[in-house]
Amino acid sequence: MFPLLKYTKDQVEAYYAKVTPEMVAASLAKDKHDWFDLLNLISPAAYPFMPEMRAKAQLARRRYYGKTVSVYAPLYIGNTCINSCRYCDFRVQHSGTVRRNLTMDEIRLEAEAIRATGIDSLLIVAGEDPKVNSVEHLAEVGRMLKTMFSNLSLEVAPQTEEGYRELFNAGYEALTCFQETYDPEQYKYFHPAGPKSNYEFRLWTQLRAGKAGFRQLGVAFLLGLCPWRAEAASLAAHAFYLMKECYEAKVQFAFPRFCRVEGGFVPPHEVSEEDVDLMMLAFRIVFPQCCMTVSTREAPAFRDYIVQYAADNMSAGSRVTPGGYAVLEKEHAADVAQFTLTDQRAPKDVYAAIKANGQEVVFKNWDKRI
Ligand code: SF4
Repeated sequence: MFPLLKYTKDQVEAYYAKVTPEMVAASLAKDKHDWFDLLNLISPAAYPFMPEMRAKAQLARRRYYGKTVSVYAPLYIGNTCINSCRYCDFRVQHSGTVRRNLTMDEIRLEAEAIRATGIDSLLIVAGEDPKVNSVEHLAEVGRMLKTMFSNLSLEVAPQTEEGYRELFNAGYEALTCFQETYDPEQYKYFHPAGPKSNYEFRLWTQLRAGKAGFRQLGVAFLLGLCPWRAEAASLAAHAFYLMKECYEAKVQFAFPRFCRVEGGFVPPHEVSEEDVDLMMLAFRIVFPQCCMTVSTREAPAFRDYIVQYAADNMSAGSRVTPGGYAVLEKEHAADVAQFTLTDQRAPKDVYAAIKANGQEVVFKNWDKRI
């Protein structure tokens, strides 16, 4: 569990089992919600309330985000990694993966291909390889890309507060770091070696980034590694903590789910689409002001639906391969992907789907304070 919570996993699971329909209804009726409301709204007793939850989540979403949907694209700049995550094909022991780190010229080519689709928010992604993707290198990449994009986000190895300050000064303003699991024992099992095996250092990543000036702090766990309700309780506690400690920044939720693929990692605790739906509605109700992104691992129909009720942000035309937008030939573009994409639509088709639902595509919705 999130270490500052005073409840054990067993106590939290026992609480879920005792939630009644009356408790769910009472949580739904409130205007302001606390941690227990989140638990009530994702408990097994909440499923029959999903139509009402949908209506309440949509109201909350409209209040803070109107009918807008922000779009972004990830740019994978490299996939060498010194970690050993048991569920990832980029892990150091996995010899079957083609490794590649893009040069500055290749990064620019990829970025130009993304920019040509209208996208103005870029997420830089890389495996953990401090010799290649050092703070200095990431800062150099940031300075180059800041001339092309309004918003730069990072999804790379956790850094020190000083490192984040340098990256913030180079142009990055948002950060995502999945905790993968909040259960320290399971974390140790899934991350047996490498710097990522340090649970505590990863856990306080967003706090360090927030102190360094980052304006958006992304939190998540990997859906499928451990029982999801206990993980979601920890995620909510983590978010409440960050909202207090880094009140100038915005917390962003993501709900990345392992979908079983042939020959791929088999998640020990599979999560259904209905569970993801319930969780996203509940988090939108309890955290109405927070950002929420919907993963490209989800099916197009689900993504188009959930951006109307809970999520406010989605990727479009994603390639999860270093070089996948412009550098690699089409037939090689899937060789070195980190995970399988379920939504493979081109950006223009994602924009068309958003508009068809009566929503507006937003490429940029903020400006840096000078
Ligand atoms: S999940 Fe990230 S840190 Fe772990 S092996 Fe894959 S790329 Fe490396």
